[in-house]
Amino acid sequence: MSASSGAVVEAAEGVHFVGGAHVNWVILEEGEDLTLIDGGYPGDIDALEGSIRHIGHRPEDVRGILVTHAHVDHIGSLPRFTERYGTPVYMDGREVAHAAREYVQQVTPATILSQAWRPGVLSWTLHVLKVGGTSKEPVKALPFPREEGPLDLPGRPVPVSTPGHTSGHSCYHLPEAGAVVTGDTLVTGHAISRLEGPQPLPSIFHHDREAMLASLDAITGLDADLLLPGHGPLTRMPVAEAVDTARAMASRAW
Ligand SMILES: [Zn+2]
Repeated sequence: MSASSGAVVEAAEGVHFVGGAHVNWVILEEGEDLTLIDGGYPGDIDALEGSIRHIGHRPEDVRGILVTHAHVDHIGSLPRFTERYGTPVYMDGREVAHAAREYVQQVTPATILSQAWRPGVLSWTLHVLKVGGTSKEPVKALPFPREEGPLDLPGRPVPVSTPGHTSGHSCYHLPEAGAVVTGDTLVTGHAISRLEGPQPLPSIFHHDREAMLASLDAITGLDADLLLPGHGPLTRMPVAEAVDTARAMASRAW
């Protein structure tokens, strides 16, 4: 692990979980080829490329980039990355226009500042500003090439539609690894949350919190006991148990 690569952990065979400074991404490895799921803030581009090199690959090995949702902390580095390597980006069809910035479902600076009195919010905000968190740069993306089942990409990820956090949010099930990439539908921590373990993000981040909580139904039945969230540490726990915990935590999350 080094400052320029984030903390890279091989969570399961061919499944690399990367903890950036304030957001995570996942690299799936199948032989020479990779799939990237999410990419961090604009300022995470060096850490992103560093994490790929850390596992013995080149950025050119990425066959496709999947996105859980088009918030700047998950797609911010992708304009640079795709410009350099021409990698195709896929996401839920409903999220494509969001990534193009035809509309934005993201918390405003004014809303964040109204919460600046809460522990952790100010230092987190300063970090976000430093890594380009106010960028509105669009990302060109394509809808998933198929409606159901595993995608024809390294690691055979299966998109699971989980609208709420944003209208086109997706989780990704990795059946062979028994893992689920939960994005921001279920996290295990956040710089501005005092809670530990599976939880929903603070309310200000969700476009539609009720829909997000309802979407937990879509992942609770998955065969998985490894959670790879958008924020917080990777967590080994049956996904149904994690969903129950997150639902119970929902009343304590602000
Ligand atoms: Zn996020």
